[in-house]
Amino acid sequence: MAVPVALLVVPLAMHVTANEPVPELNAETVPSDGFELPEIVPITVDDRTALDQLVATGVDLAEKVDETDDGLRVEAIVTPSEQQWLTDAGFAVGEPVLTEEDFAELQAEREDTVAESEVAEEAALDVGDDLRVQRAAWFENIGETFIQVEVWSEAGSSSANVLLEVSLDAGPGTPIGAGGTFNLSRFVDAGHYMYHRTSTPMPADPVPSRMRVRSLVDGHVVGQVERPLTEFLDGQYPSGRGAPREWGYLATGFVDHYVDATEATAKIESLAAEFPDLAEIIELPHQTNGYRRPAQALFAEKIVVDAPSAAAGEYEAVAANFGRHPAVQGIAGELTLAVDGTGDPADGCEPLVGFPAGGIAVVDRGTCNYAVKVLNAQAAGAGAVVVVNNVPGDPVTMTGSAPANTIPSVMISMEAGGVVKAVLPASGRVHGAPNEHRVGVDSRTWGHEGGNDLSVELADPGAADRPLTVDVDGDAVRVQLATDAAGAVRSTAAEVVAALNAHPEASELVRAYTWRGDEGTGVVAPAQRRMLTDNLSAPDTVSRDPFTVKAIRIGTDRDGSQTGVLLYSQEHAREWVTPLVALETAERLLRNYRSNPFIRQLVRNLDIFIIPTVNPDGTHYSIHDFTLQRRNMTNHCAVTGASDLRARNGWGVDLNRNFRVGNWEQGFSGASGSCTSDVYSGPTPLSEPEAQNEIWLVENNPNIRFAMNTHTHGGYFMWSPGAYRLPTRDGLERPSYGVESYFYEASDVILNRIKEHRGTSVWPSRVGPISDVLYSAAGNSADDHFYNNGIFAWSFEAGSPTWTGSGWSDVGFTPPYEEGHEEAMEFSHGWLGILEVAQMHSLDNVLPRSTIEPGRGSYDAPVDVTFELSEPSDVYYTLDGSRPTFDSPRMEFTGPRQGQEPITIDETTTVKWFAVDAAGNIQNNYQPGGTRDNYQRAVIRVTD
Ligand SMILES: [Zn+2]
Repeated sequence: MAVPVALLVVPLAMHVTANEPVPELNAETVPSDGFELPEIVPITVDDRTALDQLVATGVDLAEKVDETDDGLRVEAIVTPSEQQWLTDAGFAVGEPVLTEEDFAELQAEREDTVAESEVAEEAALDVGDDLRVQRAAWFENIGETFIQVEVWSEAGSSSANVLLEVSLDAGPGTPIGAGGTFNLSRFVDAGHYMYHRTSTPMPADPVPSRMRVRSLVDGHVVGQVERPLTEFLDGQYPSGRGAPREWGYLATGFVDHYVDATEATAKIESLAAEFPDLAEIIELPHQTNGYRRPAQALFAEKIVVDAPSAAAGEYEAVAANFGRHPAVQGIAGELTLAVDGTGDPADGCEPLVGFPAGGIAVVDRGTCNYAVKVLNAQAAGAGAVVVVNNVPGDPVTMTGSAPANTIPSVMISMEAGGVVKAVLPASGRVHGAPNEHRVGVDSRTWGHEGGNDLSVELADPGAADRPLTVDVDGDAVRVQLATDAAGAVRSTAAEVVAALNAHPEASELVRAYTWRGDEGTGVVAPAQRRMLTDNLSAPDTVSRDPFTVKAIRIGTDRDGSQTGVLLYSQEHAREWVTPLVALETAERLLRNYRSNPFIRQLVRNLDIFIIPTVNPDGTHYSIHDFTLQRRNMTNHCAVTGASDLRARNGWGVDLNRNFRVGNWEQGFSGASGSCTSDVYSGPTPLSEPEAQNEIWLVENNPNIRFAMNTHTHGGYFMWSPGAYRLPTRDGLERPSYGVESYFYEASDVILNRIKEHRGTSVWPSRVGPISDVLYSAAGNSADDHFYNNGIFAWSFEAGSPTWTGSGWSDVGFTPPYEEGHEEAMEFSHGWLGILEVAQMHSLDNVLPRSTIEPGRGSYDAPVDVTFELSEPSDVYYTLDGSRPTFDSPRMEFTGPRQGQEPITIDETTTVKWFAVDAAGNIQNNYQPGGTRDNYQRAVIRVTD
């Protein structure tokens, strides 16, 4: 039966009351002319009531509700006719996010994958699988032994039906399998097959000496390799000039607490003053914005406790995202501590006992869902609920779902709750304001320069027909709200904002704004005089002025003649261990110089630049205000966006995303253009003075050849590339075979040193390019140093997971100091290891040697050749008889950690080549740009 659609068109969202029957949406109420396929469309409704009305239509909704600035956003699965019906009914239906075309594409992709998998499996059954072992390592970590394995499989790259099975022996002389058999995980990153692996190290006791890897398709073995397992971080060091050796007695342990940037800077200044022959301070030229902010106030929700209570006053409150917003005029009642009689009686998680009807329930956060607390209070007759936060800091938005909830609820801070709870019961009121009623105010001056002395009052004149007026008396701004004939306040948020911004004196003191770009059409609630505050709580010893970032430069010859090493910490403020690594290392170098020959050699052979904290403002904020602050403190959010005081922990630029190479602007993954994202790239590359300082230092000191960007946590040692584009997962060039081989060799020195402190091994799988072993980090500083300035630029994540006996446990950004101290000690060992690597590099005059394998001679079939090298080196070669130069083809990796890509020779060829090591030494002192023919050569004869 066709029902005329027009009869059913009623404006649902705004005007239907809960008592009216809600029309149902189905094939009968929404007839369609032809066959229609559903699409997925977003629908945004104002509140829970409207959502209930939408649900009552019987519409097919996806199982999630998102809070947005515009209201509650859901996704519906509806045909175009049904979309029209919903639109006509008053619902805000958006453009389809997924249509039949998308579904068809998905089906095609699925079918392609199935076909590819089948082809790969058949090929493997036919000709076998190509297996390449990338890692086969065992290591010891604080007295326990573990293994990690990585194997690349050609068949496995296309099919998850290909299983890679590892069988271990139980030590030398035992059969394969005696140490157990297990499957590897298939590692796919950003949609791309990487390799198969043990994703975390596996306990292995006894330590296996050999493993067999088999590739299986439907139980058939299609590939097999056997390899020895080698010890990772075996404590062995390379030999040669300046090579690592026993350190002898070394004084250590120069840090005893987490420090802010003021303390860290004072420390390097006092060290430089004490050791003027060995060290100096470099003032970096770009001052930070400073640990400072405008003072702010936001007129939104609040609770008021009436006089004569000892707690009388206003307290900031944040409404829940469910239930009703508290009314603008407020809900009055007796503020009464809820008692539920069991467990923690004030958590309100059980039915309340003896609660006075009409009261405002005060309950503690914790133990159960917010909705449970609010519904218990509602059942006991409460008019409103005040939840007291159970952690310090701002109150948070309470989220949840409680369709039966009809009373408003707000959260106040733990601090405010403590004051209020001490004097209950008291009479009071819960006020609230939806977005359009809110007014924000910022001081024009910084908080510490007068902003914190300002106050703003939104006064109810208490009389009829009054105009909106603004008066300024010293630091006090008084807005008298307009009233109508009945004496009710009628000034809207937009009117109050306009009046403040138009008032000559007030506008010199403050800037007013509506909530995050809202039109501000709601009537504002009167509010008592409120002090503006920058909410900065560091002691006065922390300057509010722009901060001069300082480096300490250590070395006997600081004239640019020695190899330079840049060691820098704390781009990310919350990584509290990292400046301790810097301070400990600087002090070790200076205090051991006279007594320890090993240290003396480093200080004489190198030019060492140490920045304990790149991000001083963020560090001050993290230590004194908001521990998890990662970025600097500069607010780039527009006044129409998240720039009010509620957003103050969301500002700042991620300095390790603010650099010029592989960054967000260029389309690389792992950063964001949003001013409140924790990986915000900043408005432009190098927009931030902290990032400019790093670049200034390396560009003004071209002798810097090594750099270490130190972060926490996870226990990583990494290098470029540090970013890729999606979906291709490529973009930045990988280091050459020679450079990457050199990085692995250097990591062995550096990570063995770390291990020497307390036995901590960085995992084999956490050593390699950033984008292989961690994730894409668009615009990071190490990539800038490597690609723009040719610096061997590494990144640490200090703080390796600890083994609990059954699993691995993360240490976090701010571990208890006892653990933080140990991390500082072991990564200071690692920094000294970097200096050893740099010293070896600076003294390296040993020429690399290389031979071609198999060697010159006659072969009766095409032959694959590779090069045997005496040390990590690049090989440039020609096959056309010409002189090899740096423009000639370069030998490359087959894949990450997979060895050399062989050169196939299928006809008689003269191969000419030279090898060059990381220090630039060339085999046989050959000069690629010269004229002498002292390169290497071999004739490979291929006969038919
Ligand atoms: Zn970090």
